[in-house]
Amino acid sequence: MEISILAISYLVASVTFIIGLKMLSHPATARRGNLIAAGGMTLAILATIFLYKDDGRPLGNYGWIFSGIAVGLVLGWIIAKKVKMTAMPELVSFFNGMGGACAALISIVEFDYIYREAASEPDKVFGSLIHTGHYLAIIAGAVIGSVSFIGSMIAWGKLNGKIKDVSFKGQHIINLIVLVLVLASAVATYFAATNSAIIYFFVTVFLALLYGVFFVQPIGGADMPVVISLLNSFTGVAAACGGFLYDNKAMLTGGILVGAAGTLLTILMCRAMNRSLMNVLIGSFGGSASGAGPTHAGGGTVKEITISDAAMVMAYAKKVIVVPGYGLAVAQAQHTCHELEKVLGEKGVEVKYAIHPVAGRMPGHMNVLLAEADVEYDKLLEMEPANEELKTADVALVLGANDVVNPAAKTDPSSPIYGMPVLEVGEAGMVIVNKRSMKPGYAGIENQLFFEPKTSMLFGDAKKVLQELIAQVKEI
Ligand code: NDP
Repeated sequence: MEISILAISYLVASVTFIIGLKMLSHPATARRGNLIAAGGMTLAILATIFLYKDDGRPLGNYGWIFSGIAVGLVLGWIIAKKVKMTAMPELVSFFNGMGGACAALISIVEFDYIYREAASEPDKVFGSLIHTGHYLAIIAGAVIGSVSFIGSMIAWGKLNGKIKDVSFKGQHIINLIVLVLVLASAVATYFAATNSAIIYFFVTVFLALLYGVFFVQPIGGADMPVVISLLNSFTGVAAACGGFLYDNKAMLTGGILVGAAGTLLTILMCRAMNRSLMNVLIGSFGGSASGAGPTHAGGGTVKEITISDAAMVMAYAKKVIVVPGYGLAVAQAQHTCHELEKVLGEKGVEVKYAIHPVAGRMPGHMNVLLAEADVEYDKLLEMEPANEELKTADVALVLGANDVVNPAAKTDPSSPIYGMPVLEVGEAGMVIVNKRSMKPGYAGIENQLFFEPKTSMLFGDAKKVLQELIAQVKEI
């Protein structure tokens, strides 16, 4: 009876994961979807703790289990409450790394368990004492989980600026060698005598950690979104291995869903950058440019516009397309931006938002930001329709965006972002760019857009500038 309640609980949990994931695809339902999936996860955890039986024995160890849950709950709660909106991308990366670490630890604990059971036959080949499928799940969970853990930690450091991109000549060859060593060591663990298998196993884990460092360290600049979503899918696959090990259907489904969603996101991000995954992994795209510093290769001078002139131009425009970027999140100006949209709307101006898939610092960053300010979802345009609509816009208002509107991606084959589809703001009648200085964006490269005759710079913090714009537009 208990077994079937457990199975039903896992089934219900799996269904909530799927419903939650589906609801996450729309800002209006995303919050509820997250709660539903979290509810399903809570059900799966409680069902496992109280209903799971190991050879007819209950799980026990309740003191340890609930102490661990309490510590995680309190820490997670405090961190999530304290985190600033701009630090969300790095927090997501950090939490993803924790998922990878958990999956790797599950494999390590399971290996240790089997190793102890096999200890009475020290001279036998370790692989002969374990089911091959079981071993594959253990080693895959340990390797992929370790890569995901350390890779996410490095991505976390890169996103908060503490870790710099490092690449050197021949790095990809070294990466390949380390990867081959990981696989060789995994095979050696299986064929080793039982008493030495544990040494090979931990060498494999160590090499996987080393590979994770080498793998993420050189990738930087504009390629970070791809790496982040790839690491996300790694964590899912590693968790699914844990589900295999414990024959836990909810963990298996959850892991597969995360793995599949992460893989799809990786494909979407690659498409958004117009790059193949292989190119991202071995190309160091944008990484080298970050350290190189900006150069202004093109001609032209920078033209500034005053707040009152910008307000005038927008108030008399028919259509204004707002291009939000990372700077809007830094300034926490999403509500003020929505306010400007409403004020312009009252003057009969049609306002829409052009969303680039890699704008900000995490996939979907701008959608989350604008949804928080209750911007209507049908006002958000994806890149392709946005580029069409920009042709008919009187004004493109670029708010804290830089790389995603850089025309070098189309015009300069020597640019590290060449080939990446960008928002073609130059197609609008006029371009107003708000940022604080002439500093480059995340990819560390100069933006010729700022020097174009059609472009006027509106320098200042996005929130302050938007507040002043609202006041001026209201007076017109
Ligand atoms: P960028 O990082 O290219 O540019 C942001 C701009 O905002 C900066 O040039 C900065 O200029 C300006 N800014 C910063 N603070 C403020 C402020 N308070 N007020 C006004 N402006 C401000 O951002 P984009 O969104 O255009 O592009 C995203 C970049 O990040 C891409 O290269 C992408 O590949 C990368 N990335 C994306 C991830 C994702 O998943 N979306 C993940 C990791 C990286 P100034 O300092 O002069 O104000």
